[in-house]
Amino acid sequence: MHFFSYKEDELYAEDVPVRLLAEKYGTPLYIYSYKTLLRHFNAYNNAYKDFPHIVCYALKANSNGAVLRLLAKNGGGADIVSGGELFRAMKAGIPAEKIVYAGVGKKEEEIRSALMAKILMFNVESADELREIDRIAGKMRTKAPVALRINPDIDAKTHPYISTGMREHKFGISIDDALENYRLASRLKHIRVVGIQKHIGSQITKTSPFVDALKRILVLLDELNREKFDIKYLDIGGGLGITYVNEKPPVPADVAKKLLPLLKGRDITLIMEPGRSIVGNAGILVTKALYLKKSSGKEFVIVDAGMNDLMRPSLYEAYHHIIPIARKKRNMIMADIVGPICESGDFLAKGRKIAKVNKGEYLSVMSAGAYGMSMSSNYNSRPSVAEVMVNGKTHSLIRKRGTYEELISNENIPGYLR
Ligand SMILES: *Cc1c(COP(=O)(O)O)cnc(C)c1O
Repeated sequence: MHFFSYKEDELYAEDVPVRLLAEKYGTPLYIYSYKTLLRHFNAYNNAYKDFPHIVCYALKANSNGAVLRLLAKNGGGADIVSGGELFRAMKAGIPAEKIVYAGVGKKEEEIRSALMAKILMFNVESADELREIDRIAGKMRTKAPVALRINPDIDAKTHPYISTGMREHKFGISIDDALENYRLASRLKHIRVVGIQKHIGSQITKTSPFVDALKRILVLLDELNREKFDIKYLDIGGGLGITYVNEKPPVPADVAKKLLPLLKGRDITLIMEPGRSIVGNAGILVTKALYLKKSSGKEFVIVDAGMNDLMRPSLYEAYHHIIPIARKKRNMIMADIVGPICESGDFLAKGRKIAKVNKGEYLSVMSAGAYGMSMSSNYNSRPSVAEVMVNGKTHSLIRKRGTYEELISNENIPGYLR
């Protein structure tokens, strides 16, 4: 559920016409709905309200400070994957004791800043990393709280690029090697084992992979308890899917209904790391149709948003609904909706049956809140897109459009070229 809908044939973001925002702030433009974000975040909190839990929002889905601030104010934690995300999370006021840190390639300075900040735990992805964290914590005369990220070898049944929980993936420690790695961790002086974590992939639209993965993890948890490990946190990762086309993913309460009975009576705090399911349908990308073109029987709608602004269609052949912000009776056409980037892979939709678009018209790319802006780049020297948050009738610029000056601000011309 989200708050982008037609009222009298005009697309609205909550109580504001999208046209007004496109005209005021320009295009391409990301628009987020405050109410949708809050509703999605609360869906998790409500689903798990009778069990100790922390919702650690996965920053990589959308790391705008206003989005983070909204979640922080409502009790949210953070799942981070870099020093930059740690910086953003702390700046937004997310308390360190609600921050978990994942990622296969944590660097020394990143580990050090996370230790300094006193985050809740590191989700460690290899024995090598475990030793490195131990070494750094030792130098800092402290103990690092860690969970091991366990790869339960469960097929998330999603796109191969966003599936992470099988043996052949680079993520986590194979469940077969888990005990051995926990024993190693317990021997390391500057490591404090506090948790267990898994994350099997993204855009998962069934409940069963979550159930199957948790069951495997619980077998391991029982073994760890027998070996007297003090596991306080069970981190079940993120990955819940959203509706892009006609998927019918479970809502957090559906998943909770299946998971909570498995956890009954266990003295642990549950951690979850949702990203997409909080922000995905809470954002749209508004773009302007610049040109219409027919070429050897094919129709192209050339818009001002490119693959650098929204990479998902090019990267995963992901589907996003694209609708005109003015609804009226029109003929349907079959077209490719493409951006201005000099790449054949630059498209928002391919062979799409879409309402006939007029030159100069605004279109809305739906469900663009997750892995949209956060994956964007300045390729083709295109300044970054502006972002707006709408709350009821209020709209606020939460990131201003980038400038040409910014594009070169970190560059330097060597003396011999001056
Ligand atoms: C990407 C990621 C998430 C969030 O995944 P979503 O599919 O956006 O919910 C959570 N945890 C980890 C470790 C991740 O890499």
